[in-house]
Amino acid sequence: MTARSAPKTTTARARPALATDIPSLERLLGSAAGQTLASEVGRSRLATTLRQILDHARSQALAGSLPAADLEPDTLLSHAQSQIQTQDQPRLRAVYNLTGTVLHTNLGRALLPDQAVQAVVQALSSPANLEFDLSTGRRGDRDDLIEGLLCELTGAEAATVVNNNAAAVLLMLNALANRCEVVVSRGELVEIGGAFRIPDIMQRAGARLVEVGTTNRTHPADYENALGPRTSMLMKVHCSNYAVTGFTHSVSVAQVAKIAHDHGLPAAVDLGSGTLLDLTQWGLPREDTVRETIEAGADIVTFSGDKLLGGPQAGLIVGRADLIRKIKKNPLKRALRVGKLTLAALEPVLALYRAPELLADRLTTLRLLTRPAAQMRLQADRLQPILQQALGTDYEVQATPMSSQIGSGALPIDQLPSHGLSVRHVGTGRSGRALKMLEDRLRQLPRPVIGRIMHDALWLDLRCLEERDETAFALQLQGSAA
Ligand SMILES: *Cc1c(COP(=O)(O)O)cnc(C)c1O
Repeated sequence: MTARSAPKTTTARARPALATDIPSLERLLGSAAGQTLASEVGRSRLATTLRQILDHARSQALAGSLPAADLEPDTLLSHAQSQIQTQDQPRLRAVYNLTGTVLHTNLGRALLPDQAVQAVVQALSSPANLEFDLSTGRRGDRDDLIEGLLCELTGAEAATVVNNNAAAVLLMLNALANRCEVVVSRGELVEIGGAFRIPDIMQRAGARLVEVGTTNRTHPADYENALGPRTSMLMKVHCSNYAVTGFTHSVSVAQVAKIAHDHGLPAAVDLGSGTLLDLTQWGLPREDTVRETIEAGADIVTFSGDKLLGGPQAGLIVGRADLIRKIKKNPLKRALRVGKLTLAALEPVLALYRAPELLADRLTTLRLLTRPAAQMRLQADRLQPILQQALGTDYEVQATPMSSQIGSGALPIDQLPSHGLSVRHVGTGRSGRALKMLEDRLRQLPRPVIGRIMHDALWLDLRCLEERDETAFALQLQGSAA
């Protein structure tokens, strides 16, 4: 140890501190404030954090750049506290989705209704009959919890559930078409965002893809001509995120199923977004429902739980009992099965479909999709002055009509009339840069606000800001004023 530094004078704070001025770890931990903090964050964690802070102070002191005020025990401890708080901030955070895309894959797709939230909370904290048959007291099958509901809602004979629809397609193909050929139209070889491509999944499943027809036109004869001794199934895939328009022809599920059945083969359909009810009754675009697909003759239908269905991430497989049995016996099923939280959330969501008249009120996804633009217009009028005030004179905020999308590859070309706030940069200079900075700033808020930049403005679509969240949203904006 070097000799103690000169006695402190009133000017001590002005000079850089010396390494020898640094208080010991023991002194900090032993202080009253240190003990209180240790009881909150754990003594060893506090010690580790303080050690790093003291090490850093030591190297600053050696460089002659450590202000003496930084060595006050209270300063050091509050520094440690804020470091720990920053570390403990969850990486997965709630955001405001003002992108205008309701089922936004990057923002977690469907929001679950309260019934599902309650069920998940309970499943998290209580033991449950996940694989336990309460009527016999014997071991049960987790699929039994939702199979009855799925059959009731789709008209299928049997059902099973896996982690997501990509897993459902992989499992279905591996169980029913391993080492065999599957016939698919060239117009349906989709790629879904995040690297789900039908040809790749097919290969990983061990099935050989036989492409028929052309990009724009496929005819029944194309399927017929592709059939051979190694054909194990005919498959249709929903064109979830694109539309082929113009000179086109595709073969309906009913026709594909008829050809398959005439040759003793099953017909499978990857529906993508599983719609359980005709959405036109709520003014939404038309989509084939799972029931209609089954009724048209599909032997197996796969679809997502968290797209239009409005439930948790899951892949649902419904169809003929003998095929579902084969799928459930496949070892991949065990690898791709869902956990209890998924099942807890899925059951109440499916149950809501038993009362279609109440669905648009209770099922969050449908409620958001059916919000009238007039409602968002009133919100925009209320929020416009608040955002304008928060952003100051560099930006001009306007209440503006805009259009939302359903998202997640559901009904790709349809737009829903909506309303929101558009923000333009005023004043001279690069408006593109200013908008990017604004976008960053909104993303850095405690609850990040996510919009989209388009046509030289930042667009904040209010469709997904329900009225119950509006006050908190407004307060955050007010608090963020520069
Ligand atoms: C979305 C989609 C998938 C993938 O579903 P995930 O649930 O995201 O795994 C597969 N096929 C089609 C046609 C889709 O639209």
